[in-house]
Amino acid sequence: MPELPEVETTRLGLKPLLKKTIQEMVVRDHRLRWPIDVNIKNIIKNKVIHDVKRRAKYLVFVLDEGFLLIHLGMSGRLSIVSKKENIKKHDHVDFIFQDSELLLRFNDPRRFGSIHYEEKEIEQHFLIKHLGLEPLEKEFNSDYLFKKSRKKTQCIKNTIMDSRVVVGVGNIYASESLFLAAIKPTRRSGSMTKYECERLVAAIKKIIGDAIKMGGSSINDYASADGSLGYFQQEHKVYGKAGFPCSQCGQLIVKKVLGQRSSFFCKQCQK
Ligand SMILES: [Zn+2]
Repeated sequence: MPELPEVETTRLGLKPLLKKTIQEMVVRDHRLRWPIDVNIKNIIKNKVIHDVKRRAKYLVFVLDEGFLLIHLGMSGRLSIVSKKENIKKHDHVDFIFQDSELLLRFNDPRRFGSIHYEEKEIEQHFLIKHLGLEPLEKEFNSDYLFKKSRKKTQCIKNTIMDSRVVVGVGNIYASESLFLAAIKPTRRSGSMTKYECERLVAAIKKIIGDAIKMGGSSINDYASADGSLGYFQQEHKVYGKAGFPCSQCGQLIVKKVLGQRSSFFCKQCQK
């Protein structure tokens, strides 16, 4: 599944589309997670792409008026390809541009992705408005996490994976951040000290920041928008390492299921 760093890599790969005018949107299959609204085609026709931003895992195409929102879901992929490129299975949508030999193609075997149009404020869109902070923005800090974790009885791993608190901290990043911060994933959120929140916030920023620099670290192979493989798997310290010795202390890494997700940690190093 594309995680926030892969979506950011995709976003950077979409730069060649800036200032291009959308000539046509071809929908071969509208049955995504939400069926694609048939009106979008007409609305975005002849609109110029001024910018491509990202909010959580949504790519936000800034048009003359309004925004096009694309989510890659579980298996979605955007690629910039030649108009002559053959249509493959699961190539559900194409965006064709004026005076261009290139088109933007959306492929999604599992069809959990989505394409929406928002006319007014992107932050008011129903998919965006309940989202928490971006991990790399300065508002995501120890004061914020400390406040958000008070009175919470759920474990800290589930709190940092809650997109209403902070977006983009997927299972791998949560496990790795907690190891870096030396905090057990099973810790009750409300028991976190201010200093621990500080360490954890710094760890999340470091792990996600590094993953963005490396182009993401999904377990599945993954291609960025220009078709180049963006599959630079980060060196995981704990994730997927159950039964292997901890890189810090040598004790074996353990695995525990929390909130239906596998969590990996070192009982010795993480408190
Ligand atoms: Zn250890």
